[in-house]
Amino acid sequence: MLQQIYPQVPHHFQYELNKDMQIAAAHFIPHEAAGKCTNIHGHTYFVNITVAGDELDDSGFLVNFQHLKKLVHDKFDHTLMNDHKDVFNDKNSNDFPTTEVVARKIWQIVQNYLDKLPNKPKCLQVFVRETPTSYVVYRPKAGNK
Ligand SMILES: [Zn+2]
Repeated sequence: MLQQIYPQVPHHFQYELNKDMQIAAAHFIPHEAAGKCTNIHGHTYFVNITVAGDELDDSGFLVNFQHLKKLVHDKFDHTLMNDHKDVFNDKNSNDFPTTEVVARKIWQIVQNYLDKLPNKPKCLQVFVRETPTSYVVYRPKAGNK
């Protein structure tokens, strides 16, 4: 599953890096429309993060793969997504841990980190597969935060 081909995002950067991650995590969607997903349950998420840029840093990296893993995998793996109050909010539907929101939040976490790097890479796409038959792709609009 991790070696699958992901949707490509068109761009004109010289370098493109992709980081795959597998994250075991639980969540629930606190809204009646979610049906049985209102109950806590688990998924093995497959995440692919696409980062691009024209400049490498002093060590020859666009961004260090390990740092991406630390930021995302190490934060969420074996946790209940809803417990991350710095990321998700059970009161605001725009912040429920749906697949769509998980993808957007991962993008925000990654881009906030990339903004601090001197070579200014961009996160162009976050792919989140929640089940074997369901996935979401998040791509920021130009200039979006
Ligand atoms: Zn679920």
